[in-house]
Amino acid sequence: MGVLDTFALDGRTALVTGGYRGLGLAFSRALAEAGADVVIGGRDAAACERVAGELARETGRQVLGTGLDVTDRESVTAAVEVARDLGGRLDVVVNNAGACFHRPALEVPDEEFRAVFDTNVEGLWKMSQVAARSMADAGGGSIINIGSISAMIVNRPQWQPAYNASKAAVHQLTRSLAAEWAPLGIRVNAVAPGYVKTEMAPVDDPVFRARWIEDAPQQRYAMPEEIAPTVVFLASEASAFMTGSVVTIDGGYTVF
Ligand code: NDP
Repeated sequence: MGVLDTFALDGRTALVTGGYRGLGLAFSRALAEAGADVVIGGRDAAACERVAGELARETGRQVLGTGLDVTDRESVTAAVEVARDLGGRLDVVVNNAGACFHRPALEVPDEEFRAVFDTNVEGLWKMSQVAARSMADAGGGSIINIGSISAMIVNRPQWQPAYNASKAAVHQLTRSLAAEWAPLGIRVNAVAPGYVKTEMAPVDDPVFRARWIEDAPQQRYAMPEEIAPTVVFLASEASAFMTGSVVTIDGGYTVF
């Protein structure tokens, strides 16, 4: 087998949370292009089904859309079942769904803080646990968590204290689960992107640009397609000896 063959995902089934727009869409498309059958889970089931149909036509793979709210364990269990029904087993989960609010710490209401943790940490936890039970039965799998450089740095003036803390929790949960689940054949890694042009990041705001983009080594933000190849790599046999890693992809941002 040549080195490029180790990146192929033929015969694998992947589930991407929040996989119909933003970074999640780029991950869904890249996994299907690499050969996987893909389930796109999101709160807008109709949008997930529409995007899944488009990706199936584009890539020739089986791509399904399904309703999924990661904060609801029954919904998570149902989405994992959809993936198992599609491919006979679930091989790859991308925990991409995320929530972010920009507000100074003194003004953050408890409900907002809780909502961020419910999605970014507890939602990721629920999906990982349900998926890992399925993967363990099947002999292994790969879980890829979408963390952030916000786990390591604090951005301003778009303060986001709950988000920053939640992503730090994602990175450490990645390491914890990787250690526990390695004997089950399950690898758990995270990707920590810098600023990526999606609805979440205010990359076109002039103050944000001046402070956070023009002052960075590459002086630019990323497009979602620039993060997706690393997710394919972590899903594939090419990364077989990687678990518990957090891969930073930030154009050099965190070197300063
Ligand atoms: P978007 O806001 O474009 O997408 C967020 C996605 O998460 C949407 O599909 C959203 O669905 C989904 N989502 C939120 N809550 C839930 C939930 N309870 N159940 C299911 N899906 C949910 O942002 P990005 O694409 O930028 O973000 C994707 C991931 O990347 C996030 O984890 C984010 O923190 C991370 N990230 C983003 C960076 C960036 O600069 N953009 C940088 C670093 C990390 P819905 O349409 O229903 O709201």
